[in-house]
Amino acid sequence: MKVLVLNCGSSSLKYQLIDMETEGVLAKGLCERIGIDGSVLTHKVPGKDDYVVEKAMPNHEVAVKMVMDVLVDPDKGVISDTKEIAAVGHRVLHGGTVYSDSIVVNEDVKKVIKDCIPLGPLHNPANLMGIEACEAAMPGTPNVAVFDTAFGMGMEESAYLYAIPYKYYEKYGIRRYGFHGTSHKFVSGEIIKFANLPEGHRKVIVCHLGNGASISASIDGKCVDTSMGLTPLEGLIMGTRSGDVDPAVVQFLANNEKLTVDEVLNILNKESGILGLSEVSSDFRDVEKAEAEGNHKAAVANAAYRHRVIKYIGAYVAAMNGVDAIAFTAGVGENDASVRKLVCEGLSYLGVKIDDAKNNGPRGVAAQISTDDSAVKVYVYPTNEELAIARETLALVK
Ligand code: ADP
Repeated sequence: MKVLVLNCGSSSLKYQLIDMETEGVLAKGLCERIGIDGSVLTHKVPGKDDYVVEKAMPNHEVAVKMVMDVLVDPDKGVISDTKEIAAVGHRVLHGGTVYSDSIVVNEDVKKVIKDCIPLGPLHNPANLMGIEACEAAMPGTPNVAVFDTAFGMGMEESAYLYAIPYKYYEKYGIRRYGFHGTSHKFVSGEIIKFANLPEGHRKVIVCHLGNGASISASIDGKCVDTSMGLTPLEGLIMGTRSGDVDPAVVQFLANNEKLTVDEVLNILNKESGILGLSEVSSDFRDVEKAEAEGNHKAAVANAAYRHRVIKYIGAYVAAMNGVDAIAFTAGVGENDASVRKLVCEGLSYLGVKIDDAKNNGPRGVAAQISTDDSAVKVYVYPTNEELAIARETLALVK
């Protein structure tokens, strides 16, 4: 059985065709500049040269059609008929308070995705376009929506409510939702198996440290708390996002810089974080290089980033009254041994002991990086959101 996974952005579309017998990627690719001049599709098949098609893609429907054409192309393709695709799994940003799990798309589901556009104004419209494009291109093939917010729906009221007048939760659904849910669910679930955590000892903290970064606490795979909130802006310091700030900063900047609230939010989302503090880059590799060359702001940015991660881990240990395993994942979490080491050194009070040889071991593979006598086991576990979406999709259509 083959499952196609789609991740649609406002002007982009990422895809992967996965063979569910082996869970191997048959083909993957990216359509860029949809609806803009210079649209381009890059198609990758393992072991073959990339295939690049430069052709106008005025909308997502045309982009999906091009993906279908390249997948069945006698030369560049990997299947002979789109009927071989058993189902399409869509990454959907926001399911509001309605969906705490993935679901086969029907008209009601589409309506909820549409109703949640105010909560996910950039992503939900694109996600819907991707779904409708697949319905048009492959009538009868089921589409499954896998929500980035689903995992966070496991939180209790005490964790997800902001202490603002309750009526705003009732009126607008203002609460903490959490994002990167597919990754947190996948990694926390895999860690329970990988670390062989017995029942009653499944308190897991997952640090998803990428360009966007978030952290979750879960017990037995159920989310207890997660750091992103109403939007992905809350929580950790990220590549360009500030993470937690006093909301009064917004008022202060708006008044003193003569900016609108939207303009300040744009600064907090796109010009802050590692980029804003270091004034070097949003990419960790650049900021670490600058620190090594003696750049003070870069050093402060890196230290602030780690401070926030250590602080959240401490908070989540407290929220769960303990922790059995801590896992690092995503771009920084999987690749940056020095961030992992320095964060773990800040957790010595928990009895965490890092094994330097293991921490500096091969990249891209799941591994325990703590010593065998560490009181809390620490792991690197590569996230795989596409595979997670494909598995959820298959489970619903089988
Ligand atoms: P996204 O949130 O866009 O999915 P990723 O999880 O792919 O991001 O992470 C991308 C980030 O990972 C880059 O911006 C970079 O900061 C960081 N990164 C990737 N490789 C390394 C590395 N070898 N060392 C340090 N940081 C890395």
